[in-house]
Amino acid sequence: FMTNKLDPWSSSEINDYSKLFEEFGISPFDNVLPEIPSPHMYMRRRVIFGHRDYEQIADAMRTGAPFSVMDGFMPSGKVHLGHKMVMDQIIWHQQMGASAFVGIADREAFSVRGFSWQKCREIGVEEYILSLIALGFKPDGLIYFQSGCESVKDLAFELGVKVNFSELSAIYGFSGETNLSHMISVATQAADILQPQLEEFGGPKPVVVPVGPDQDPHLRLTRGLAGKMSMFRVEERENANGGKYLSVRGKGAPKEALKELKKRIPGKVKLYEEHMDILQTPDYPFLERFVLQINHPEKKKCFTAELKDASKSASEIKLTRKILDEIVAEVAADFGGYAFIPPASTYHRFMSGLQGGKMSSSVPDSYIALTDDPKEGAKKVKRAKTGGCVTLEEQKKLGGKPDECSVFELMLFHLIGDDEELLEIRQECVSGTRMCGSCKQLAAEKMYEFLKDHQEKRELAKEHLDEYKIIYKK
Ligand code: SF4
Repeated sequence: FMTNKLDPWSSSEINDYSKLFEEFGISPFDNVLPEIPSPHMYMRRRVIFGHRDYEQIADAMRTGAPFSVMDGFMPSGKVHLGHKMVMDQIIWHQQMGASAFVGIADREAFSVRGFSWQKCREIGVEEYILSLIALGFKPDGLIYFQSGCESVKDLAFELGVKVNFSELSAIYGFSGETNLSHMISVATQAADILQPQLEEFGGPKPVVVPVGPDQDPHLRLTRGLAGKMSMFRVEERENANGGKYLSVRGKGAPKEALKELKKRIPGKVKLYEEHMDILQTPDYPFLERFVLQINHPEKKKCFTAELKDASKSASEIKLTRKILDEIVAEVAADFGGYAFIPPASTYHRFMSGLQGGKMSSSVPDSYIALTDDPKEGAKKVKRAKTGGCVTLEEQKKLGGKPDECSVFELMLFHLIGDDEELLEIRQECVSGTRMCGSCKQLAAEKMYEFLKDHQEKRELAKEHLDEYKIIYKK
């Protein structure tokens, strides 16, 4: 695709999201894009605009190291193009080598919507799972209903110890009226995200959760919990001179585990101060000095591993961190504890409603369901709000506004896979050589074809359901 000096996919909305970068520490996706082998269309087109820690995912893709993609769907209504965006990203990561986990959040639907387990199951299968498979989800991924997944339920209970009501009300606005099950469903979502790192799924590894920015509170909560639950934490820190160093904390870890950790960290151990050891690591020369501050039960000391020469390069820090992560995970597992890596995330723009404004499940004309009759889907495209001028003459003179056009958005997000073709459409629109009537016609035809094909694949998926690993409520 053309590398454009100006932002070819530009949208004013991205500017609205820039607050997220500053306030919540989400990084712009542009920073990590060059590190990704053959990036997904949403990445190239800046539909995905931000991330947390995606570097570790890009790294795993390049090196073939294990990583996972995880996402969940609340079985609450019709599966639509907004869900397709998430499914496309899960499937892409799966194709890039991730082990994939999809949770059907029936605990959430039960507690928030009051749906019965049976209704959750029907909606989960009929709407979400069939479309997920039809879009290309491979059978080696795991699909589960929260209510049937013992490991998620156990982990949710354990996570519950590390989070209190004040935190939940600060994050989710919970009040005295909030029911207990709703709170449990929040802990369950955190467990969903951490589950791929459990021993039975191969232990700690980078996990990415593709979400819209509204889901970020879950990510922040879960990232915090990953640290609180871990027997040891490896963190990158900055000293007063701006130099980077690595810190390993082991608050509350059993003494034996600490001893074992010391043994397994390569190098020579020397006593430095009362509860501080120095490790010299000839195996890793860039680790000139490695300070290990021992956790002292009475003094409640954490322990800190630090690179004395803080000017070490980012890649050395990264390598060191990888080594430390692995050692720490092994020791934690041996002592029956966890060592979670904080989950990574990507953030995508929302699709707007077909009539402008927001997409709303209570306004069927504002969205296209993947189960809409293809003819009806095409009609919705034809009724959609465009960014065109009132008269043809004006449009020829002034051009259209693709960034304010729902039809262009459908092409950008779903209907046109070829970047060059899309850029051409954009160019023609802006320059006034493209008219909305024929443009809509093209989009409507493509939508008809997509829905028809997708629904045929859904029928096929029904026949192949039993080839998939699906955990239902017992
Ligand atoms: Fe939208 Fe197409 Fe009209 Fe441009 S020409 S405003 S892209 S419908």
